[in-house]
Formats: sequence, structure tokens, C-alpha cells
Amino acid sequence: MKQYTLLIGGERVATEHHADIRNPSTGEVVGQMPLATEKDLDRAVAAANAAFKLWSLVPDAERAQACRDVAEKIAEHSEEIAHLLTLEQGKPLNGLGSRFELGGALAWTRHTAELSLPVEVLQDNNEGRVELHRKPIGVTGSITPWNWPVMIACWHMIPAIRAGNTVVIKPSPLTPLSTIRLVEVINEVLPPGVVNVVTGENAIGAALSAHPGIAKMTFTGSTETGKKVMASAVATLKRLTLELGGNDAGIVLPDADPARIAEGLFWGAFINNGQTCAALKRLYVHESLYDQVCQALTDYAAKITVGDGLDEKSVLGPVQNAMQLNKVRELVEDAKARGARILIGGEPQEGPGYFYPVTLVADVDHGVRLVDEEQFGPVLPIIRYSDVDEVIQRANSSPFGLGGSVWSADPERAKHYALQLECGSVWINKHGAIQPNAPFGGVKQSGIGVEFGADGLKEFTVSQTVLS
Ligand code: NAD
Repeated sequence: MKQYTLLIGGERVATEHHADIRNPSTGEVVGQMPLATEKDLDRAVAAANAAFKLWSLVPDAERAQACRDVAEKIAEHSEEIAHLLTLEQGKPLNGLGSRFELGGALAWTRHTAELSLPVEVLQDNNEGRVELHRKPIGVTGSITPWNWPVMIACWHMIPAIRAGNTVVIKPSPLTPLSTIRLVEVINEVLPPGVVNVVTGENAIGAALSAHPGIAKMTFTGSTETGKKVMASAVATLKRLTLELGGNDAGIVLPDADPARIAEGLFWGAFINNGQTCAALKRLYVHESLYDQVCQALTDYAAKITVGDGLDEKSVLGPVQNAMQLNKVRELVEDAKARGARILIGGEPQEGPGYFYPVTLVADVDHGVRLVDEEQFGPVLPIIRYSDVDEVIQRANSSPFGLGGSVWSADPERAKHYALQLECGSVWINKHGAIQPNAPFGGVKQSGIGVEFGADGLKEFTVSQTVLS
């Protein structure tokens, strides 16, 4: 059984203790995660700090080239990392699974390599000259979740290093191995200490976010944990980017064509088994086409193959972990008890593996946990509505504000309503389609700050004005 190591200052660092990482499809151990101590964390921060002193002075064009080289390393190893990701995360190799995730990691890395923040001249006249410089912040801490571990690691690390910072990354204890391997391969082309990995249980994340040597935290995970990260940033006023939970609404207007939108709705909700922050989690359908949309979605869902991620036929895998599976079961049972109608799925499966079928739930509404809470599984509640203005208010009644979508034959009409949704990204006739040049982030309790594009890169800088 392979024992993985921490990566500190360009070296593999063995730990005394390890934890087993299991395949969610089979329960088999796929590798052992090193359990870092606070001393290891101190070493990682010190290594990142020493590297920062050099890396922050490297000319911008050289840092851009280094990020291109990183992209080439990811491309070279993507099949191997995708395989490891499937083993520990459960998502299938195919479809919108591990190979797709590696493709995303690569696309974002390539895009970020080409971004730059040149000096802006704000004034240059008889009264003087004002220049705005964007400078790196220092050592950045990164904490990632288990749903898209490789892609999110790239979202955190690449803009950080592109802007001249160094990184200590701590992946989720449920999916740490693919991040360790990813950093091993990119370290082949980066100076030692620019990116360091520490792994362990949640406590090591808390220690990282409280560490006085960290100048900025980038956190992706639940709102509950994000609040803790924010609280521990107070002592040294760390900069923060928080990408947190969501409960995205999709609104189907009366003029939509059920047959045309079914596939987009399905994948908007069920990508990665619904374990996606910006997945469609509540679908509101106008009463005039409610039954047709339910039928079209059920027909589509009936064709989906759920199975072991390594089976090339699987397009969805298991739920990632037992806690998540139990929550999904609980929310569906609660909805059933309150009179909801199961269109497809809804029956837990026997083990091994944390499998749960694709589940569509009709005749539900607000006041039922499945609608009100952030559920993070292969379940979509479908809510009937009669008045569009009123449904916008209901969609906005959530404390979250990550994404939202409107579905209509008339894109202008859809945009009119989409702009009224209180969330960071809105989609028209699709849901959750993120791209590297479109800033992404949540409003309300879904986060602070944005990632991607020049706006995302700026979050890894502090500004310095030069007035002469
Ligand atoms: P989580 O909050 O349980 O864990 C996220 C990370 O935080 C893990 O690495 C964990 O070890 C670490 N952690 C746990 N306790 C900590 C603490 N006290 N201090 C510091 N770090 C700590 O979330 P999860 O279950 O891994 O991921 C699912 C959640 O992530 C969902 O809520 C989802 O919506 C959200 N998410 C958001 C986005 C986004 O971009 N907005 C993207 C993906 C996932």
C-alpha cells in the first residue's frame, strides 16, 4: 500500500502517522495519507516564506513561462492523476468525471499563465504621475474540498504563484492523494518551496488558517467552515477569498420547451452526482409545463449508468463519503414523509460503496429540508409555481447566493429575470457552466471575493501606488 508523503521545500517529507484513504465505490484502501503535525506545518510555512523572497522577484514573463511549464506537466500526467482521482473521489473516469476535471485543471492553468497585471498609469501630467503596481502578498494558504479536488487546487495555486506568491496547500482529508501527486509533478518545474503540501485531518486546516506566517487564505468548502477560517484570519488580518456553499435555483419559464431543456437541466443538477457547489439544487417549473418537464427529466434520468468509476460505462459514480450519503438519504426520507412524490430513484442501495440512485422528487416546496438546505447529492426537488415575480422572491429567500439559472425560449426575457436573482453567476438555458475568463464567486453567505480572470488574479495581490 503506497504511503504518500508531505511536500515541503521541494522535498518529500515522511510522517510518523498515516490514515487510510478508501475508494468510495468499493471501500478498499487505495493509499495512505500522511498526517502532518503542527511542526510540519511550521516547516512548510517557513519553506514557502524562504521561497517567496526569491519567487516574488522573478520577472513577470518568467513566472508566466513557469505556469505554462506547470500546464505541460499536468498534461503529461493527466491520465495518471485522473485514475488516482477516480480511486479516491469515486467520480467516473469518463463523462463529466476525472478526465473532464483534469481537462479543466489544464484549461484554467493555461488561461491563468497568460494573465498579467501590468503597471497602470493613473495620471501623468504637469501635476505629477501616479502609478498603480500590483504586488504579491506573501505566503498563501489554500484549503480545498473533496468534490473537485484537482481543479480547485489549480484554481487556488496557479493564480497565487502567477502573481508571485508562494503556497501551502491542505487538501480535504477525504481526497488528499491526487493533490499530493499533482504537486509532485508540478514541482518538477517550480523552484523548491513555491508550492508545499501538508495533509491531515481538519485540525491541520484550522492550524493553517490561524498560522501567523500566512498572509492570505483561499478557502473552498462549506459556509460553516468558511466562517471559522474568517474568524481565525482576524488576529493577523489575513486577506481572504472564500468560495462557500450554495443552494442554486433554476427557474423554468412557461415558454420553455421541456424536450430541449431536459438534458441541460439534468447535468446542471447531477454533474458530479450533485456534489458541486454551483449545481442546480432547486428547480422551479411553471405549472403549465410542470408535468412535461418532470416526464422529460425522468426519461433522461432513466438512461444514466451509475457504477464504479473505473468502469468505462459509468457516467456517474458513488456519493463520495458516508456522511454525505446519510444526509442524502435523510433528506429524501424526510421529503417522502411530507408527501413528496418520487419520480425516479429514492431507494438506498445495499453496499459495498456509497451508491445512491439518481433521484427526482416532485410535489415539494419550501418548508421541506430538501428544498431549504444545501443538499449535496444526486437529488433534485422540482417545485411548481404559478407567478414568475413571486418565484424570483422565493428563489432569493435563501441565505446562499452562488449561482442561478433561467430557462426560456426567449433569452432576453430570461435575462430580465436572471438579473433579478441574488447570486454571483446566472446562466440562461444552462447551469453551472463556469469558464476561466468569467469571474466566479458567491454573494450573501456563499462567499467573499471572486476567482478566475484578471479580477481573480488581483485577489492574490496588494496594490502599491507610486506618486511622483
Ligand atoms: P468542508 O467545509 O467540510 O471542508 C472543506 C475543507 O476545510 C477541507 O479541506 C477540511 O479539511 C477543511 N476544514 C475543516 N474544518 C476546518 C477548520 N476548522 N478550519 C480550517 N479548515 C477546515 O467542506 P467539504 O464537505 O469538503 O465540501 C463541500 C462544501 O464545499 C459544500 O458546502 C460546497 O458547496 C462547498 N464548495 C464550494 C465551492 C465554491 O466554489 N463556492 C466549490 C466546491 C465546494
